[in-house]
Amino acid sequence: MSLPHFFLDEQVLADQTQEQFPLGLSRDDAKHVKVLRLGPGEHVAVVDAAQDYFECEIKSFEGSTPVVVISGHLDAKPLAAHICLVQGLAKGDKMETVIRHATELGVSEFIPFAASRSIMRVDEKKAASKTDRWQAIAKSAAMQSGQTHLAHVHQPMKLAQLKQALAAFDAVVVCWEEAPGTALLRDALCPAVRNAFADRLAKIAVVVGPEGGLTQEEVEAILACNANARIVSLGSSILRTETAGIVAPALVLYEMGGLGAGERA
Ligand code: SAM
Repeated sequence: MSLPHFFLDEQVLADQTQEQFPLGLSRDDAKHVKVLRLGPGEHVAVVDAAQDYFECEIKSFEGSTPVVVISGHLDAKPLAAHICLVQGLAKGDKMETVIRHATELGVSEFIPFAASRSIMRVDEKKAASKTDRWQAIAKSAAMQSGQTHLAHVHQPMKLAQLKQALAAFDAVVVCWEEAPGTALLRDALCPAVRNAFADRLAKIAVVVGPEGGLTQEEVEAILACNANARIVSLGSSILRTETAGIVAPALVLYEMGGLGAGERA
């Protein structure tokens, strides 16, 4: 049974000078400690603000705050690649569903994309609160699935901003069911595999459209912003946006050796 995982927003454990110190949990996470009935002597896994990974033993409590000692430095789980899911804004709780399940897979970054056919509209006022909510969903999914890194959720981006962000990736995989011809996913990922080194994860963006799909203009603009952007098909079925938002990063992670593929004989 894996240790309960907690993420610290500000505290860096390597800076702690005292042997025993209060763990800088958020109020919700301190409540979660109570829900899990964790008491003195219990151990927890902690990813701190420097994305460093420790095992800590609870010694006592100051109010609802656990006071811990570091009982070990843990090796973070290696990621097969740094995956950024560009998810077309989708209505209802679809964004939450995609962020929750894609985080469990090991996606590292989310860009909510205000696509021209997105039914869901997020205005400036709502963007911050929506992003906070999605970030909390990512954190809770990372804790539940034992991730050793916390995915980052960006504020929603329009096409112009997205094009700038995508220019920095080793590969961009554009999921487009209307494409006349598409690259094989494995071929689309070749540039990322070539650029991946032992000490540097390949950075791959995966683009999924909203319920209404991506427009030809959006696809052409994305292809034009990165020489290693390719259109790929996810097969002959038309997947719901929330299905594609989970399946596409899963396939990319598997092709990059994640999700158990790395143990392939
Ligand atoms: N054309 C779709 C339809 O008729 O319902 C609308 C888009 S689909 C619901 C949502 C998104 O999932 C698409 O924009 C695309 O990114 C992705 N997608 C769904 N099925 C796909 C497939 N077979 N191949 C590639 N991408 C797919």
